[in-house]
Amino acid sequence: MKFRSTRGGAAEADIGQALEAGLAPDGGLYVPAGLPRFEPAAFRPEISLPELATSILAPFFEDSALAERLDAICRDALDLPLPLEAIGDDAPAWMLELFHGPTAAFKDFAARFLARCLGSLRSGMAERTVLVATSGDTGAAVAAAFHRQPGFRVVILYPEGRVSGRQAHQLGAFGDNVRAFRVQGSFDDCQRLAKQALGDPQIAKRHGLTSANSISIGRLLPQISYYALASVRLRADAPLDVVVPTGNLGNALGCILARDMGFPIRRVFLATNANRTLPEYFAGADYQGRAGLRTLANAMDVGDPSNFERLAWFYRETDPRAAGIHAESIDDDAIRACIRREYEQSGRIVCPHTACALELLSRLRANGHDRPTLVAATAHPAKFETVIEPIIGRSIPLPPALETLLQRPSHAAPLAPDLDALAQALAATGR
Ligand SMILES: *Cc1c(COP(=O)(O)O)cnc(C)c1O
Repeated sequence: MKFRSTRGGAAEADIGQALEAGLAPDGGLYVPAGLPRFEPAAFRPEISLPELATSILAPFFEDSALAERLDAICRDALDLPLPLEAIGDDAPAWMLELFHGPTAAFKDFAARFLARCLGSLRSGMAERTVLVATSGDTGAAVAAAFHRQPGFRVVILYPEGRVSGRQAHQLGAFGDNVRAFRVQGSFDDCQRLAKQALGDPQIAKRHGLTSANSISIGRLLPQISYYALASVRLRADAPLDVVVPTGNLGNALGCILARDMGFPIRRVFLATNANRTLPEYFAGADYQGRAGLRTLANAMDVGDPSNFERLAWFYRETDPRAAGIHAESIDDDAIRACIRREYEQSGRIVCPHTACALELLSRLRANGHDRPTLVAATAHPAKFETVIEPIIGRSIPLPPALETLLQRPSHAAPLAPDLDALAQALAATGR
C-alpha cells in the first residue's frame, strides 16, 4: 500500500519510506491511501496479539522491503501481557490494560513496533539518532524500545520539574545508548527544540536524526491491533462502545481505524482532561488548537492534538463530527473524585488518565447508556504515585519492570532551551 501526506503536497511513499521520514516533506502527516476491511468472524477469539496484528497490518506493508519481516516484528514487539478484565458495572463493561510493558504505559506497544521496523530498515553503518521530546511516558517507552539496539542512539528532552520524580528517574536510568536532557523550559519548548533540530538540514544530517513522536505512522498502526483484538475476544452481543483517554489522539485514532476496518466497534468516546479542544470541536465549534493546560493527567496535557490532522483527513469527504465519535472533558476535581471512588467501591487503583475514561463511562451510565463498553487503561498507577497515594491513603506496589529501572542510577544533563545548546549537546554526546 502507498502512503500519502495529509496535505497532499508530497510524493507517495511506501511504509518503509514513511517510517524513515517521520513527517512528510510538505509538513503533513503520512496516511495510508486506503483502509483494508476484515471479517471479524474469521479470527479465533483466542488469537494472540502478534498473530492478529500480522494479519491486519499486512496490507499496509505490502510491496515494501518490510513486508516479509512483519511477522517477526509483531512477534518481537507486541508480545506483551494484555489483560481484559470485566469491571463491575450495571451493564457489561471491560477494562483493557495496556500498561504491562517495560515502561508501564500503552506507548510501549507502538514504540517497540516502531523500533523493530526502523531496526529492520537500517542499511549501511550510519548511526541514527532518535530525538524525542517528552512530557514523561513517550520518552521512556521510546528509550526502552531502542535501548541497546545496535545502530541507534536516543536523545530525550524533557521539561525539568514538569514530570513526576519517578518519570524523571526512569528517563535518566537507561544509560548505554540513551541520553536524557532536562530542559529548562516547558514541554512546548522541548517539542519546539526537537522540531527545529529535525528541520535543520545540517544538524539532522550530521546526526542522522529521526523522530519517534506520535506523528510517526509507525506509532499509529500497531495501536489498531489491540482494539481489534479486544473486539474479537469479547464477541459481545452488540458492537462495543469504547472509551479512550485522549491527548494527541493517537491511541483513540487506532480504535477508530479498527472500527473502520470492520471490527465490531460502534461509538468511540474520547476522554480528555481539562484540555477542551476536542470536546469543543465535537460539540460543534470550529477546531481551535491552543496551548496545553497542566493537569493531573499530564500525559494528555495537549491543546493541539497532532493526530487531529489525520482524523480530519480520514473523514475529509464526510465530517469527523458525523462519525460516531464523542468527546468529553474531565477536570482535575473529577479525576480525583473518580480515583477515590474506584478505590473505595472496588479496590481498583487507577492512573489519572484511566480515571478520565472511567469518569466518562460513569457519566454515560448515569444518563442511561447500557451498551457493552470497553475502557482503555493507559498507564500503571505506580507511575503517578504523587497524585494517587494522597487520595487513597496507601502506597502503590511497583510493577517489577519499573522497580528494576528505578533501582538503577539515573543521570540527566541540564540543557538550555535553544538550538545552539542542543546542537552542542548532540555533538558532545559521542558515538
Ligand atoms: C500518551 C498518553 C495518553 C494519551 O494518548 P494519545 O495517543 O496522545 O491520545 C493517555 N494516557 C497515558 C498514560 C499516556 O501516556
